[in-house]
Amino acid sequence: MSTRADTVHPPITVFKFGGTSVGTPQRFRTVIDLATETAAEGRVVAVVSALSNVTRRLSGALEAFTTGPADRETVLSDLVADLRTRHCEQARAVLSPARADRYAGLVNERLRTLQGVFAHVERTGFSPAARDAVLSTGEQLSVPLVTLALRDAGCPAPHCDATALVVTDDTFGAANVARKATTRRMRAWYADLRPTALPVIAGFIGATRDGRPTTLGFEGSDYSASLTARILGAQCLTRYTDVDGLYTADPHTDPSAERLDEISMEKAFALTESGRLGMHPKTLRPLAEAAIPMQIRSIDDPEAPGTRITPDGAADTVMIPRRHPAGASSSR
Ligand code: ASP
Ligand code: MG
Repeated sequence: MSTRADTVHPPITVFKFGGTSVGTPQRFRTVIDLATETAAEGRVVAVVSALSNVTRRLSGALEAFTTGPADRETVLSDLVADLRTRHCEQARAVLSPARADRYAGLVNERLRTLQGVFAHVERTGFSPAARDAVLSTGEQLSVPLVTLALRDAGCPAPHCDATALVVTDDTFGAANVARKATTRRMRAWYADLRPTALPVIAGFIGATRDGRPTTLGFEGSDYSASLTARILGAQCLTRYTDVDGLYTADPHTDPSAERLDEISMEKAFALTESGRLGMHPKTLRPLAEAAIPMQIRSIDDPEAPGTRITPDGAADTVMIPRRHPAGASSSR
């Protein structure tokens, strides 16, 4: 078991579930199984993205709304109808009827807020702040879906509002996290939870000190997850996506792409910075600070080894939960 000076609780695993992982009923069920099975053995915190394509849909609608030529009312009503259908249909597929009804109520509430933001844009024009308020809707809709499904599975999943935990500056669209304030809030919040709690935190979003919603930038939920892992002193961050690890090229389009069993944090840094890992460029920094490894796994084959990003000098002292490749050769 790893011991760290800043570990505030028994070993915690942070799971990051991206949009593709929560985006279909089948994969969503795998998310719930993975989270509940692992929580039976230790502490788990889940960080989740918006359902696949939702952030893009929100962004496209706002652009069409502000720049035309489409009719504004139609742009907004189509968006609201699409989001309602997508989320409520999935809720009916994965939740108990009572919780699906409850969720539909939450969706309506959130969509009313979204309509309010569009009305504001109509009155005062586009602003980066309004754009973040619009974009944050995706995670605000996905988090309660996961939370309610965990409760259906008998897991005590508390309500959690990421905008109350992640404090940022007002660089809308690429907000910088105020580390001290965020650490204080997140640790205080976590310390109050029951040991069996399985909290679900929205990735990608935060808020300014005066409560205006912000986003951390494209693929920001990876960064949210690594920050959470760092702040809570997690032993590992496991990131689920739709490919079973890191490849030398995009395996969907390049048949010569090879999967890496393990790479060093240093090498991963270089790949992230050149945009080749499909993660937010700041993702690895908090992990490197505390030598927290990241395991990248496929939601379609969660037992497959995936790729391990190994912090320098920490390979022997940190346990990776679930199976990892026996005798995996380093790609270094
Ligand atoms: N939904 C956000 C985005 O598309 C966050 C994420 O997926 O990382 O960037
Ligand atoms: Mg993503």
